[in-house]
Formats: sequence, C-alpha cells, structure tokens
Amino acid sequence: MPHIAPLARLVEQFRRLPGIGPKSATRLAYHVLAMDREQSRDLAEAIIEAKEKIGYCSICFNLTDCDPCQICRSDTRDSGLICVVEEPQDVAAMERTREFRGLYHVLHGSLSPLDGVGPDELRLKELLARMNDSQVREVIMATNPDVEGEATAMYTARLLKPLGVKVTRIAHGLPVGGDLEYADEVTLSKALENRREM
Ligand SMILES: [Zn+2]
Repeated sequence: MPHIAPLARLVEQFRRLPGIGPKSATRLAYHVLAMDREQSRDLAEAIIEAKEKIGYCSICFNLTDCDPCQICRSDTRDSGLICVVEEPQDVAAMERTREFRGLYHVLHGSLSPLDGVGPDELRLKELLARMNDSQVREVIMATNPDVEGEATAMYTARLLKPLGVKVTRIAHGLPVGGDLEYADEVTLSKALENRREM
C-alpha cells in the first residue's frame, strides 16, 4: 500500500476520537472513502455545523444552540430546584426520565487532584453566583457515584450550605463507579426520588 497523505491524515483524525484505536480508525477512513461524495460532504458539514452553532448556556453551561438554553428560558420549569451534574450528557440522561422539572448546572468535570482538576477547573463559581439572584430552594448533587463524583458532591455541599440552601444527594442504587449517562430511566428516577439531605 503506497503512502497516501490524505488517507493518512483522515486515519490520524479518527484516531484522536475517544475509544478509537488504529484498526478502527483505518476502518472508518476506508468507509468514508467508500461513501459517495454527497454522504461524505453531509458528514463533514454536520461536524462543522455542530461546532459552529452549539455552545454553552451562559447560565447552566449545558450545550445549546441558543442562549440562554431552552431549559433555562422555560417558564414551566421550577427555578427553585437546581440539579448539578458533571457533563452535558448527564442532563440528557436526566431529561429522559421526564421526572425532573427543575433547572440544571453542568460542572464540566469532577474534582480529581491527581489529574490536575481542582475547584477552579469546574463551573463552581458560576453555581455559587446563581444562589445570589434567585429563589433557589434546593440543589441536588447528581454527580457520578464514583470517588471523584462523591468528593465533588461533598465539596460543593460545603460551599452551598452556608448560603442557606438545602443540598441533597441522589440516592445510591446507581451502580457504584457507573456513569450517570448510562443509567436507565427507572434507576435514575428512583435515585432522584430517594435523594437525601447532605
Ligand atoms: Zn441553560
């Protein structure tokens, strides 16, 4: 196989994606080459459009194509209730349950000193700021049920409690070490329903 620079470049780009090793990257690259011109253009344009049109909500930091996002600007949601999650995917998981009618706050990670993720790397300041100008009654910590997620929940609760807001933690029953985003709707609904005060 002679070296074909554009093919090598495509393989290299796929290799940067999570969970894609050299073999999968090569397979994907050949698959793209086998597509007709229109299909491959659709794929490329979908990537560019998503990157150009989607950003973070300036209030909750969830992904959105309008700011504030649909959830933050909705007048049918309970603005006294904020559910704190690690990643935008977790918001999607919570929304699938159709149980939660409050607002969200996406931290964009969890505390992990070994990986150099401290409080300043998360959207914690922005969460605290939301306590000032709103009628927040309860903050539900829905970080993942692993070591980092628990530490993040504890740390955040310590910051919030002096502000006089009730802080709760979603119940265990989620598989320990598992990701919120992969929990099924029933498990997640139960975890939310059985939350306890921190
Ligand atoms: Zn928002």
